[in-house]
Amino acid sequence: MPELPEVECVVRQLRRLIAGKNIVHARLIRPGLAPDNSPRQFADWLRNTSIESVGRRGKHILINLSNQRTLITHLRMTGRFSYLDESADDPAHTHAILLFDDGKKLVFDDQRHFGMMMVVRSKDLNEVRCLADLGPEPFSEEFTVEYLHRTLGRSARQIKLVLLDQTRVVGLGNIYASEALHRSGINPKTPANKISKRRIGPLHREIVAVLGEAIANDAQFDSESGDLDTSYGRYETVSKVYDREGQPCLNCGTQIRRITQGARSTYFCPRCQAR
Ligand SMILES: [Zn+2]
Repeated sequence: MPELPEVECVVRQLRRLIAGKNIVHARLIRPGLAPDNSPRQFADWLRNTSIESVGRRGKHILINLSNQRTLITHLRMTGRFSYLDESADDPAHTHAILLFDDGKKLVFDDQRHFGMMMVVRSKDLNEVRCLADLGPEPFSEEFTVEYLHRTLGRSARQIKLVLLDQTRVVGLGNIYASEALHRSGINPKTPANKISKRRIGPLHREIVAVLGEAIANDAQFDSESGDLDTSYGRYETVSKVYDREGQPCLNCGTQIRRITQGARSTYFCPRCQAR
């Protein structure tokens, strides 16, 4: 499952490849991909328009069009964009195609069918169900130590679970939440409202740092590959605890432990993250 850094990397690649292009044809092949649009609407709202910009809100990719509409895409588990020549074969499980006037096409395929697309009026973007409740972006001015202290103080749930809650802050998935807690020495089971303000500064700093490093790593792979590459799993480059159960902590040598929180695995060092 791509996390925020991987989605940001896809956004940057799309920006480079398709910004400014004119869409001459659009097709929704699997209607369930865009349940809020009919295939006819999807085609009509994307056709004969050009791509003004490509952005992101949380893990939603936003393709802004010259006709005041925005194509929202969530990749979920296995959704993937490919940028191909018009004559190239479409990947198996292709669910939507945008065709450009220069003989190129953008193809969305999704093996497991969890991906989501929606075309909306750009001015309504903030009211769209999937975006309305999202917390601040981790790199925004809104996401301050004070904000994090305030929002954590309102919850007695375990800190790891609160960090995964996208209404508090967007962008922390399972991997980077574990890493940020390890880097700031906080036990993933500590109730969020029991973490002192003194410890929230380092947590805030490490959330921003771990996501920033992951994006920089992805960007490096991107510039090496050149074409649209939406392969994931490069977290290894910043991972000190994730997926390292039983291996020595890189700080202190204690064995990394794995526990289950909210039906998902958390990895942590019982010594560095004692409380
Ligand atoms: Zn340790």
